[in-house]
Amino acid sequence: MAAHGAQPAAADLGHVLHESFGLESFRPGQERSIRAVLNGRDVLAVLPTGAGKSLVYQAAAQLLPGITIVVSPLLALMKDQVESLEQRDVGVSFVNSMLSAGDAADELDKLRSGRARLLYVTPDRFENEEFVAGLSGTEVSLFVVDEAHCVSDWGHSFRPSYLLLAGAAACLKHPVMLALTATATPWIRREIVERLAMRDPEIVVRDTDRPNLFLEVRRVEAETDDRRVLQELLTGDADSYPDEVAPRLARAMQGSGIVYTATTKAARETAEWLRGWGIAADYYHGQRKKADRVRVQEAFMDGELRVIAATNAFGLGVDKPDVRFVVHRDVPASVEVYYQEAGRAGRDGEFARCTIIYRPADLGRAAFLAGRGELTRDELERGRAGLLKQREVTYRELAAAIGLDKADLVRLVAILKQHKIVQERRGRVRLRVDDFDPDAISLDKEQYRRAYEQSRLEMMHGYVESVGCRRRYILNYFGEEFEPEQCDMCDNDVPRSGTQRVVVAEPEPSSIQFASGERVTHEAWGEGVVESATGPDVTVLFETTGYKTLAAGLVAEHGLLRRLDE
Ligand code: ADP
Ligand code: MG
Repeated sequence: MAAHGAQPAAADLGHVLHESFGLESFRPGQERSIRAVLNGRDVLAVLPTGAGKSLVYQAAAQLLPGITIVVSPLLALMKDQVESLEQRDVGVSFVNSMLSAGDAADELDKLRSGRARLLYVTPDRFENEEFVAGLSGTEVSLFVVDEAHCVSDWGHSFRPSYLLLAGAAACLKHPVMLALTATATPWIRREIVERLAMRDPEIVVRDTDRPNLFLEVRRVEAETDDRRVLQELLTGDADSYPDEVAPRLARAMQGSGIVYTATTKAARETAEWLRGWGIAADYYHGQRKKADRVRVQEAFMDGELRVIAATNAFGLGVDKPDVRFVVHRDVPASVEVYYQEAGRAGRDGEFARCTIIYRPADLGRAAFLAGRGELTRDELERGRAGLLKQREVTYRELAAAIGLDKADLVRLVAILKQHKIVQERRGRVRLRVDDFDPDAISLDKEQYRRAYEQSRLEMMHGYVESVGCRRRYILNYFGEEFEPEQCDMCDNDVPRSGTQRVVVAEPEPSSIQFASGERVTHEAWGEGVVESATGPDVTVLFETTGYKTLAAGLVAEHGLLRRLDE
């Protein structure tokens, strides 16, 4: 690790903030992260979306002797940043997989000659040895891994090329490493530190709390009710909230907003409804043409479109500060996903409204989807037969040969890819080996993953069914305490008239006992769970508050558990 000399004076940091970025003060977490980096310390900064993570490396880069490499998975995001830095006369290089070898070399020249201080690069570039060799002549002070959760294969955002980054940093003589993410779950944090081979990193966690977001869940029963509720929400609010919040809630719905849907079809349908109600709206999903997506996103950013109906393809990197509401027409797959999407509202710190329209029947379907899809030996065997017969197949052919549905097939291919048995290009799956032994493939991880997904969904279920303060539920999930009795910014704390208010004691037991002697798979909850079995009872110790919440949910929902302190 390079020795970076003395800590720059506060004046230097302040100067950079004012002069280079035209900003007045740091936001929580920024200054601490920058200082740690400048002191030569690895840093994992877990800061919510919109917190201003980019500023941490952009500012540090100006004060470090060598260059700063920024790895990010999102080309579009990087382009925006590069452009805005160039406008501020900060020299930047940008190398992505689309550049020709010559152009890439020019970009590296900019770095060597000192014309650029920052290099933005996509992770797949590190597969290219020439590229890494080309860099090794330059002094690299800081290696930044943005969206660092992509290194974890727990989530859906896993990028295999992120696994190359630890090695790349080693080739570059171990510059200081800064990993950035908004994903706060403790086990993903741990995985980031391990897989990036970070050395005793300082972990900077800002409060997850977003006190300006009003959180609510609207429970509906019939299929057609969600349209009605959406209409009520968007066109004059028949909400009957008390006077302290009703006007603010109604006003929020007049501002710009996002309606998230689970499917592309629903996104389109929703946009049609909205237009039918006289709202300037359009839809966004991954299967729309690129040009349409760009147009829709820009129109939303400029305020020409007031509301966007979208799948989860929309949002990463959307930096619109004045989104006033986010409605979910379907319950997301986890609290992390929900909080990230809902968190796109109110980035400017002003009041914003986050609503989930929840139909219990749908959650049953989601649970069903998350619950199945455990690959069996038999399916692996059939996969082998299907592949050996044809060597190179499309998904469709493979599905027909094996008799698996899409989701299972995707998992099968993922597992075979991990074992380097197949490769996949442009939707075609090709065998890389002459034959393989299905019994040699471990399915442990697969079972673990499934249990994990189910437990996450379970926690989300707990959220929509919760009768307590929703803010506390979310913060507890992320392992944080919420001291006040209630937040007065959720529908359970400020109930609508006509809804019944239920008060539950906040669970505080450190251990919970299964009255029935039933076991709940503790792997599903990750670490921090210690289990001991005595007689018919199983005792589970929950070390973090998130698990307490899960346990409390189980108490409430299934009567499965009995609290020891009762
Ligand atoms: P993140 O990556 O954490 O989601 P970004 O780095 O994209 O967030 O920053 C979000 C917005 O916050 C940007 O528009 C940025 O200019 C702004 N921002 C960052 N830091 C500050 C600050 N200290 N004061 C005011 N605005 C800031
Ligand atoms: Mg970011």
